[in-house]
Amino acid sequence: MTISLQDFLKKYNETRDLNIMTTVDESWLKNHSAQQASVQGALSGKLIAIKDNINVKGLPNSCGSNFLKNYISPYDATVIERIKNAGGTIVGKANLDEFAMGSSTEYSAFGTTKNPIDPERVPGGSSGGSAAAVAAGLVDYALGSDTGGSIRQPAGFCGVVGLKPTYGRVSRYGITAFASSLDQIGPITKTVDQSAELLQIIAGKDEKDATSTDINVDDYLGKINDDSVKTIGVPYHLLQEGLHPDVKARVDETIEKLKKTGKVIQEISLPHLSYSIAVYYILATAEASSNLARFDGVRYGVRTSQNAESIDDFYSVNREYGFGAEVKRRIMLGTYVLSSGYYDAYYARAQKVRRLIYDDFQKAYKDVDTILLPTCPTPAFKIGEHVNNPMAMYLSDIFTVSINIAGLPGISVPVGNTSEGLPVGLQVLGNLYEESKILQLAKAIESLQ
Ligand code: GLN
Repeated sequence: MTISLQDFLKKYNETRDLNIMTTVDESWLKNHSAQQASVQGALSGKLIAIKDNINVKGLPNSCGSNFLKNYISPYDATVIERIKNAGGTIVGKANLDEFAMGSSTEYSAFGTTKNPIDPERVPGGSSGGSAAAVAAGLVDYALGSDTGGSIRQPAGFCGVVGLKPTYGRVSRYGITAFASSLDQIGPITKTVDQSAELLQIIAGKDEKDATSTDINVDDYLGKINDDSVKTIGVPYHLLQEGLHPDVKARVDETIEKLKKTGKVIQEISLPHLSYSIAVYYILATAEASSNLARFDGVRYGVRTSQNAESIDDFYSVNREYGFGAEVKRRIMLGTYVLSSGYYDAYYARAQKVRRLIYDDFQKAYKDVDTILLPTCPTPAFKIGEHVNNPMAMYLSDIFTVSINIAGLPGISVPVGNTSEGLPVGLQVLGNLYEESKILQLAKAIESLQ
């Protein structure tokens, strides 16, 4: 079923209080949709919401920040170019945690997005607007970005499908960098087929991104009903403590159903994954502190310092105004772990553990085709519940960050609800460039619901 532009505008107005979109510019949209009407391709007639940290020419790229509220993109990200060439229509920009730092979309200068399933709860983050747009039926597809879980976790919280591709599978040209060695753009959709469809369009080598690879792009949709996944690994040692009982129950039920379809479930061990939150919050903040140095009120960002007395004063007044508290916290943490004296103790060490985490996965994939992990230990939490407790917020990433650290692909697929009616997401993880395999198992799981 395809959603019409009229349906979108109607639903968008009806759901304004959910605060899903940061920009819907009706005159831009009129021109753009007229142009796209003449492009024939796999996405003709499809509506797509874009996370507001991916550049779309002529629209703001606010990154959910006061700093960039006035910034209009002068160019298209490569993924946008590909969507346009495939005939897709971009409806506007979706809300996010500022600079994609967060797990709830509460850290946006545009205010919190509400979860369409239960508006008292967060939609997850940082791609909360993108996941909510799909869940609320505003659009057919959305793009999110995933540095430590920001596609999968909000997809899990909103009951939709979110795929984080292998690092290098999709061009990062035109996304505002948060942590360049971890960031990937990926699809958020209602169904697994749609996820395959959109990945097909955006995947592949891009001359403008040296980290994109020219490894052959598989026929994801064509192979989606293949049965190449025989053995599935489950790291039961990670599923002991802190898991919400209903999350555990839905995961266990899915595993039982998969066994009945003939899949072999094998217990695996990923011993270094217990360090992944620590490693992630060292590496991601280090990279962020460097990437965000460009926002100084000269090269990028609003200039608020009218009476600065020195150049340092000038930068700090601009940055004090422009960045929110979470972004400042990350810049300080990242600067600290990179500073001389602490570099070896934190940053260099985290890089070494990064390798061990990657090795854990490689060892596991010698025995199994894919791995299952819950997307998040809990269902969507209440708005305000974690906002003043950064550690509690960071811990909601416990099951998602490790595959960004290892550069691997993962997809979150809905596996039913809690007793309160909140969606539960289950991740299917795969080895490098094995998007086809994880899509196949995700599809099989989807059809068991
Ligand atoms: N929640 C994680 C963080 O705050 C992940 C963010 C992301 O993937 N962009 O860093």
